[in-house]
Amino acid sequence: MPTFYSIYTRLLRRYGPQSWWPADSKFEVMVGAILTQNTSWLNVEKALDNLKKNDCLSCDAILKLKPNKLAVLIKSSGYFNVKAQRLQNYCEWFSRQKNPDTRATDELRTDLLSINGVGPETADDILLYAFHRPVFVIDAYTRRLFSRLNLVYAQDSYEDLRLLFEKKLAKQKNKVKLFNDYHALIVRHAKDICLVRNPDCESCCLQRQCSYNE
Ligand code: SF4
Repeated sequence: MPTFYSIYTRLLRRYGPQSWWPADSKFEVMVGAILTQNTSWLNVEKALDNLKKNDCLSCDAILKLKPNKLAVLIKSSGYFNVKAQRLQNYCEWFSRQKNPDTRATDELRTDLLSINGVGPETADDILLYAFHRPVFVIDAYTRRLFSRLNLVYAQDSYEDLRLLFEKKLAKQKNKVKLFNDYHALIVRHAKDICLVRNPDCESCCLQRQCSYNE
């Protein structure tokens, strides 16, 4: 049975460090984490570029925009009316934060989850990639890959899976860097090789650890 850490080292050897999250600022990571819900990163990039071109990639600017104007700027990311509202909800919360970097991770997470439109995956993206907290992000790619590896049940709750990863990697050092890269590597592998249909098992660096096709 492979360990969670050994899967990471194999993926790292195969793809190298992924240097996530692609953004110029902490605030851009936060906006990207909200816009990426149910859409591809390419569509998010277009929306982020549009916000930048219009000088609107800041908390103040987003709060000052009329919701329909903001929705037009982020249109490429899909569900733009809902996401415009979510972005403004987030910015209202963020603008009230005096010194979020000094707050305990659990407290910050609970607070993030209380924002309308911020679910566990978005909250954990923000915690890990913007606030640099050791929180493991779970997504559909993680469920698919690790259930095929027989290490998790795909239907387990988000919270159960997050806690399982954090427990299995508890002994490792420099967890923020590890979790940052591990999640990015999972996304890379699931997008390139371990596809929903017809996974490319012949080219897979985890083939010997996987019983999916047995
Ligand atoms: S062997 Fe196939 S199913 Fe298993 S992890 Fe690799 S690509 Fe996915």
